[in-house]
Amino acid sequence: MECVRVLELYSGIGGMHYALKESGIPGHVVAAIDINTTANQIYRHNFPDTPLWNKTIEGIALDDFNKLSFDMILMSPPCQPFTRIGLQGDISDPRTKSFLYVLDLLPRLHRLPRFILLENVKGFESSAARELLVKTLTGCGYSFQEFMVSPTSVGIPNSRLRYFLIAKMSTSFSTQARSEVRSQARSEVRSQARSEGMSQAMSQHSQSSTSDRVCIQLPDVFPHFAEADSSEQPTVLSPTCPGSCQSEEEVREGQVLYKLETAADAQRKRSQNQDLSIRQIQDFLEPQREGDLEQHLLPPRTLLRYALLLDIVQPTCRRSVCFTKGYGRYVEGTGSVLQGCTETQMESVFAGLDQVSEEEKVQQLLKLKLRYFTPREVANLMGFPQSFMFPEGVSTLQQYRTLGNSLNVVVVSRLLQLLVS
Ligand code: SAH
Repeated sequence: MECVRVLELYSGIGGMHYALKESGIPGHVVAAIDINTTANQIYRHNFPDTPLWNKTIEGIALDDFNKLSFDMILMSPPCQPFTRIGLQGDISDPRTKSFLYVLDLLPRLHRLPRFILLENVKGFESSAARELLVKTLTGCGYSFQEFMVSPTSVGIPNSRLRYFLIAKMSTSFSTQARSEVRSQARSEVRSQARSEGMSQAMSQHSQSSTSDRVCIQLPDVFPHFAEADSSEQPTVLSPTCPGSCQSEEEVREGQVLYKLETAADAQRKRSQNQDLSIRQIQDFLEPQREGDLEQHLLPPRTLLRYALLLDIVQPTCRRSVCFTKGYGRYVEGTGSVLQGCTETQMESVFAGLDQVSEEEKVQQLLKLKLRYFTPREVANLMGFPQSFMFPEGVSTLQQYRTLGNSLNVVVVSRLLQLLVS
């Protein structure tokens, strides 16, 4: 295969670049573009020879893109407009503007890239932005596939369920037909993007009309796909049922056992930990030197306030929850913490907690030696190679923040292999 010229949009710390390397596809990143100075500093440290443009994407002219003459686009547009906990501003969110610009630009390029890969959060699949993306791709003559994949599918003990779209230029499409639909797609994208106030209605429309196009069929690339735990299964087509229609059994399952954990949660975690297709957390840990551990321990104040909300894992576990950009700063839902001392039983510590004084509570909890995963360990769980480094001067919280915005390198590399195969 000839060397592929790759354009990396929203490049961050270079997760896509690492995935390209990991995929073995002969490729060369001709430009990486991002506006975040910390992320750019990290990118430059690791890829000093790659042209990195510190510019807003929407500020770059068509001509400058044409000059790059790329064959592939890799991109992770900002995900905040599509997250379930966010406001779901979708295409009316200002942070989607640059992505709409990319969609407007695509049909006008002198030469369309042969391959496109896009990554985003769960929620994107039912957005108006996705609808526009699909229209643009179809109009330009691409065939595409969409997936919801988590790293557990490739044997990594970390959840990070994400939406992916891979698109390939259909060779059967005649040049004449292509130029006709391209101009049509162009005007459609423009007029739809202009009517920002309609985003809500469009999003509902997309949910009802396009879900049948979402296909999940990956046995070769993701051997453990079917075995992933139920929370990791694609939920695109099955909107969750509100609490009012829970069965009696589900309600019983929902009763809190300890540590705000229900019987169903405990059962799910148990079965994840028994899934031998997934590696153990300990394979991803750094060898700890004396004293190193101390700086990552959870402080007593955090233990006291948030102990019940922590997702605690042991080195032998085969699961951990998604690390987000708030890891190390906020506790709830930002990522798992590690139990450093496994001789003490977690259940026994938590069992008597509500009957003791605050001081005693802290003493009990300290016995577990709960600590944050180090940035290196988070990078390991996200599939970054050992050669990936943070430059000096980037704080631990900045490291967590940029990693939390990034992606699982192994998952993307498999999708790239699928795309070019
Ligand atoms: N895939 C990347 C992370 C993408 S997160 C990685 O591996 O790290 C989205 C990135 O888009 C952020 O780094 C953010 O700085 C960048 N971004 C957001 N809006 C942008 C814009 N208008 N122009 C350029 N970059 C932008």
